Amino acid sequence: MKTSYCFDDVLLVPRMSDVTSRKEIDLSHGLDQHITLQIPVISSPMDTVTENEMCNAMAAAGGLGIIHRYNDIKKQARIAKSAVEDGAELVGAAIGVSGDYIERASELLDAGVKVLCVDIAHGHHVLMRHALETLRRTFGTPPHIMAGNVATLQGFNDLADWGADSVRVGIGGGSICSTRVQTGHGMPTLQSVIDCSRSDRDAMLVADGGIRTSGDIVKALAAGADFVMLGSLLAGTEESPGEIIYSGGERRKVYRGMASKDAQMDWRGHTASEEGVSSTVPCKGSVVGVLESLEKGIRSGLSYSGVRSISEMQSRSEFIIQTSAGAVESSTHINTKSGM
Ligand code: IMP
Repeated sequence: MKTSYCFDDVLLVPRMSDVTSRKEIDLSHGLDQHITLQIPVISSPMDTVTENEMCNAMAAAGGLGIIHRYNDIKKQARIAKSAVEDGAELVGAAIGVSGDYIERASELLDAGVKVLCVDIAHGHHVLMRHALETLRRTFGTPPHIMAGNVATLQGFNDLADWGADSVRVGIGGGSICSTRVQTGHGMPTLQSVIDCSRSDRDAMLVADGGIRTSGDIVKALAAGADFVMLGSLLAGTEESPGEIIYSGGERRKVYRGMASKDAQMDWRGHTASEEGVSSTVPCKGSVVGVLESLEKGIRSGLSYSGVRSISEMQSRSEFIIQTSAGAVESSTHINTKSGM
C-alpha cells in the first residue's frame, strides 16, 4: 500500500534566492494557447461561491470564475451574460454530463462563456468520456474545456485523451466534503497533484479541494499544479452569492457543498447520496482583499524557492516530509498564558 501525503505533511525547502522584489515574479500562466490568467486562481462552481459578481471580481484580478450549474439554463446563461456586460472578459461556466448539458453548453457559449467546466464529483467515468467526446464533436476547439474531478494519473490522462484541456484534480479534500466519510474513497489532494503532474499530456492541472492558505497554494504549484480552484477561501465575501446571516453578533454567509442535503433539496428537490455539508463562514469583506492577500503570499512563496514563475516553481522546488511535531511547529504556536 502506498503512503500518500497531504498539505500539512510537507514543507518546501527554502533555497538561495536572487529575487530582490516580489514584483519580479510573474504569476501569469497559460490555460491554453488562447487564454492566459494573471494569477493562478479559479473560483469553484458552487452556488455559494460563483455567480456574476464573483466572476467579475475574478476576471478583474486576472483569475477566472466558473459559474455554477445548479439552476435552469436560462438563469445560468443570464448570469454569464451579465458578467460578460459588466466587463468580465473571461467567464467560465459549469455543465453536467447528462440531460440538457449540450443545450446548456450551447446557450452558455452564445452568452459569451469561454471556458466550459464539465463538473461531476467522480470525473473518471464513462459518462464523462461520452460528454467530452460529444462536446468536442459538437463545438470543436475552442472552447476551452475543463473537466473533473479525478484523483489519479490514469484519470488525468484519460480525461485529457477524451478532450479536456484542463483537469480538476482532487477527490474528497474539500472543506465541505464528506465523500471520504460517506464512501471510503478519496486521495489527499496534494498526493493526487504529485501523481497527476507526471502526465505527459498537454492538459493543464487544476488542484481542487482542501486549499486553506496561500502556503497550500504554493505547495500545490510546487507539486505540479498549474492553477488552484478555491471554494472556502472565497466564500463569505461580498461577491459570493447569498444573504448575510447575523449570528451571535457576527455577520456570516452560508457556504455549502453542492452534494449537501440543503443544496440538493434546493436544486433538484430530492437527495441522492449526501456527500457534503452545509455551514456558515464569517463575512470577509470584498474578495479583492482576499485575492490581494493570497497573491502576496504566493509571490513570497516563489521568492523563498528562488524562482520567478509558476513553471520554474513546478520544476525547481524541493519538498521535505515533516513529522507531526514539525506540523505543530509550522503553525503559529505561541502559548498565550506563558508568553513562550
Ligand atoms: P474547498 O476549497 O476546500 O472549500 O473545496 C472546494 C471544492 O470542493 C470544490 O471546488 C469542489 O471540487 C468540491 N466540492 C464542492 N461541493 C462538494 C460536495 O458537496 N462534496 C464534495 N466535494 C465538493
